[in-house]
Amino acid sequence: MKKYISLEEAQSLLLEYCQPIGGEYVELPEAFGRIIRADIKAEEDIPPFTRSPLDGYAFIAEDTVNADRQNPVSLRVLEEVPAGYTASQKVVSGTTIKVMTGAPIPEGANAVEKYENIEVVGNKIKIFSSFKAQENTIAAGEDVKKGQVVVKIGTKITPPITGLLASLGINNVPVYKQPRAALVSTGDELIDADIAAPLKPGKIRNSTRVTLQGYLKDIGVEPVVIGTAKDKAEEVAFLIQQGLSKADMVITTGGVSVGDYDVVAEALNSIGAEIIFWKIDIKPGMPTMVAVKDGKIILGLSGNPASGLVVFQLLGIPFIRKMAGQSKYSLPKIEAVLQQEFRKPSPKRRFLRGKLVLENGVVNVKLTGSQGNAILSSMVGCNVLVEIPAGSEPLGIGKKVIAYLVDKID
Ligand code: AMP
Ligand code: MG
Repeated sequence: MKKYISLEEAQSLLLEYCQPIGGEYVELPEAFGRIIRADIKAEEDIPPFTRSPLDGYAFIAEDTVNADRQNPVSLRVLEEVPAGYTASQKVVSGTTIKVMTGAPIPEGANAVEKYENIEVVGNKIKIFSSFKAQENTIAAGEDVKKGQVVVKIGTKITPPITGLLASLGINNVPVYKQPRAALVSTGDELIDADIAAPLKPGKIRNSTRVTLQGYLKDIGVEPVVIGTAKDKAEEVAFLIQQGLSKADMVITTGGVSVGDYDVVAEALNSIGAEIIFWKIDIKPGMPTMVAVKDGKIILGLSGNPASGLVVFQLLGIPFIRKMAGQSKYSLPKIEAVLQQEFRKPSPKRRFLRGKLVLENGVVNVKLTGSQGNAILSSMVGCNVLVEIPAGSEPLGIGKKVIAYLVDKID
């Protein structure tokens, strides 16, 4: 077991144990937000045929070489083609076919003039300018060419990706399964949040579990609530075992410090889990314990809400994203300008809860409130963790800092 390691070492150790999750097929509308499990190659062109971008007349460009205002060219109208249909005749020199937006360019034709610019005379039209081949036509494959990779494996499926899949007629989409994470809370003091009765002295409501449930759902993970164990190694061990049998990973909260009742290590040892590391050199979240059993990770978070949740974001999110098949799994970092003071020196490397705001083209960051280990309220609105290097003096307004993006910017 490694002890007191850097965040980066913890992250890479954890990622080494990441086992790829299996796959499944989902119907196209359900594919949104899922991670694609194969490179998707276009088996056909989009659009599938050369078509008209406007309502007009299709003809042979060469018929119009000498046409201008004074010498219009006259073409005989053969038929009319709305979008969704094809012409029954071929355009030959001296003829034209009326086409609507989206209609295929009839065989023989290679240019289109819009309605507004022509003059209709009986069953003929006049064209007043000369055209080049392919003028006002949309080539087959203009959007996507047959053989082109439209979505790369490991990509999160966005609305336009679902649109491309629809264009290609892919209704059954290969995606990775959504990972499941079992949640085990520990602590004699914890009362389930859904129990409305007044608290007895010394007890608190379990706030971290429901918070983790939300964070997990947000990144496409199904949370599996196992329950709350008293601070007894056998009980914690029993619930962790249950979690391992029901999910792809287990997240525990509490019981990873050095107190008399911190029994998670004992529980892990008793079930034969290998503790990979204990304690990370950051604040908050120093007391973090990570173990592995049967290839599944047990992420042991500190019970203090902020400590646990910040480590969930720094370690848990990249790990889960990778497990879920996402090719981009690290937290993006960005330089931002601090908009308020942080008056404390930071002997240890610290992560402050903040909110990134884009103001007048500048990336600013504000702190979301008190930064204590037990403070949950400053997780509200927190979309970045601001990194403060070890040994930093108090920070003033205007200081440039590195922010780790943990949520969307609104
Ligand atoms: P521990 O990590 O078990 O030493 O707990 C540290 C602090 O976090 C204690 O004050 C606990 O009461 C509190 N705590 C532990 N688990 C939770 C939880 N699920 N929700 C809210 N607070 C908790
Ligand atoms: Mg405890």
